[in-house]
Amino acid sequence: MFGMGIYGAESSTKADQYVDSKTDRTPGKKRMLLMRMLNGKSYLCLDSNPKKYRRPPCTSSGCMRDNCVDMHDRFDSVVGDGPWLFREFVVYAVDQCYPSILSRMSECNLCVPSLPKTL
Ligand SMILES: [Zn+2]
Repeated sequence: MFGMGIYGAESSTKADQYVDSKTDRTPGKKRMLLMRMLNGKSYLCLDSNPKKYRRPPCTSSGCMRDNCVDMHDRFDSVVGDGPWLFREFVVYAVDQCYPSILSRMSECNLCVPSLPKTL
């Protein structure tokens, strides 16, 4: 949705939506990776049909391109907060996140609480 990044969600429900398609759910336990993400300065994307970023956009209001070559500063991450229920957090470098806990669960016991909406 926001390009070729590493996606995090504020709710396990959001992450579960990406496990498999709604029409072809696979039974059994799933694995979920809880990770810490270093979002830094985030670009808040409210677009329901966002650009497919290859890296965070530049911070120059007249540019905002992910392929900027004008030496503008860049955001460190993208936060997607569109018309859907839960926000998504996207980083584009592997050193901005690290796994914390690998959890096994079934759909009925997804119990990781949502994070408060503060940035
Ligand atoms: Zn730029």
